[in-house]
Amino acid sequence: MEIRFQIAPAPEPALSETGRKLFRGPCDFLKGVVAMDGLPPDDRLEVCFAGRSNVGKSSLINALTGRNNLARASNTPGRTQEINFFTLGDSRYLVDLPGYGFAEAPVAVVEKWQRLLRAYLSGRATLRRVFLLIDGRHGPKSVDEEIMALLDRAAVTFQVVLTKCDKPKAVDLEKAVAKTFDCLARHPAAYPEILLTSSAKGDGLAELRATIAGIV
Ligand code: GDP
Repeated sequence: MEIRFQIAPAPEPALSETGRKLFRGPCDFLKGVVAMDGLPPDDRLEVCFAGRSNVGKSSLINALTGRNNLARASNTPGRTQEINFFTLGDSRYLVDLPGYGFAEAPVAVVEKWQRLLRAYLSGRATLRRVFLLIDGRHGPKSVDEEIMALLDRAAVTFQVVLTKCDKPKAVDLEKAVAKTFDCLARHPAAYPEILLTSSAKGDGLAELRATIAGIV
């Protein structure tokens, strides 16, 4: 059966309200993890954010949570190779994966990171969904497809979030969306709805909050 991909429809008002409340509540940095044995206990559901370096991941996490510095930890030197855990209320973790595709990173660093990423993505029972951030100006690149292939193999559902959607002209955003749908059709772990966001303008944030609140 052919899967039809689409831009996520507006969430139900009640779910939007639940999402709004969830993200207005407590959200705190818990720890940065460099090895599997450092993971916090898997006693609650978690969602994670992944994307190329510079895709706008920190900006999105800060905008989502309404906290200017929450994700700064992930971008400070020494923290960039860590899996950063945040508590969201008392029943969820938000997980910030290190940005990938950073050309300057030494091979040994990249390999260590890939091992940890693979182990985390395929071995974390409570991981419900990966939000895969992709630049709304360009659509997916080959390094994004490598992560999608990894998620396919791990059978972890991923949902694409296009970032910086305030930047491209409407016609270019449409092209990026079409390119994203083409790409997702090749990936069985892809969630059928994508989200369009702009941390700068605040677009799509309520939808993303509602989406996260709706994951149980
Ligand atoms: P990260 O490396 O993925 O954490 O990316 P950052 O959040 O640090 O953002 C990378 C760059 O993109 C910064 O210069 C941001 O100001 C810019 N940026 C992030 N989100 C947006 C957005 O929604 N719109 C625009 N126009 N720029 C953005």
